Amino acid sequence: SGYIVGLTGGIGSGKTTVANLFHDLGVQSVDADLVARDVVMPGETALVAITEHFGHGILQQDGQLDRAALRARIFADETKKQWLNQLLHPLIRQRLLQQLADCTSGYALLIAPLLLENKLQTYTDRVLVVDVPPELQLSRTIQRDGVPAEQVQNILNSQLSRPERLQGADDVLLNTVPLSQLQAQIQQLHQRYQQFAKEKLA
Ligand code: ATP
Repeated sequence: SGYIVGLTGGIGSGKTTVANLFHDLGVQSVDADLVARDVVMPGETALVAITEHFGHGILQQDGQLDRAALRARIFADETKKQWLNQLLHPLIRQRLLQQLADCTSGYALLIAPLLLENKLQTYTDRVLVVDVPPELQLSRTIQRDGVPAEQVQNILNSQLSRPERLQGADDVLLNTVPLSQLQAQIQQLHQRYQQFAKEKLA
């Protein structure tokens, strides 16, 4: 697609729910978190480089990257962290852009929880923020994952605050409403995005 809408929002805000509703309208998407996982799958050159750099202790028995072990190695080691980011970020960016270019829908979504944190809006034409109050992020995530509130709160604290995120938004979907209402709002955005995509190509 030649027109890219960045879809972001904090943990449990409803990005997946929103992306599914766009998908029902025929809109394709690329998930930045999935791409970040793909580039370190067994057989990828990045995993070979990581293994050479950190040793085989970084691999699980089945040959997959042991993410916890890697996190432990780079935690409190700024040089190692930088080395890893310099290896992975260009690869992730390249693959994201390729997959977005391969999308055949009138416009495509780039789903990224950390879109603004990682400055991925450079690659989007527009930013759509899924917005809910932090209390609702907490309760919905706890309900969905069955995890302790403290764990969710820690992730929440590591992400942009609600006002900071809203400042980066071109469009906002307030996801405190029933799904039927959310769907109606998405229909409206879809009409506008199709129009924007057409105007850009013209
Ligand atoms: P994460 O960043 O943690 O992956 P997410 O932003 O993709 O989360 P979802 O998984 O889409 O968020 O939504 C979080 C939870 O809230 C899910 O269980 C989802 O079913 C529920 N939810 C989303 N939107 C609504 C809504 N409008 N009404 C009720 N429940 C909702």
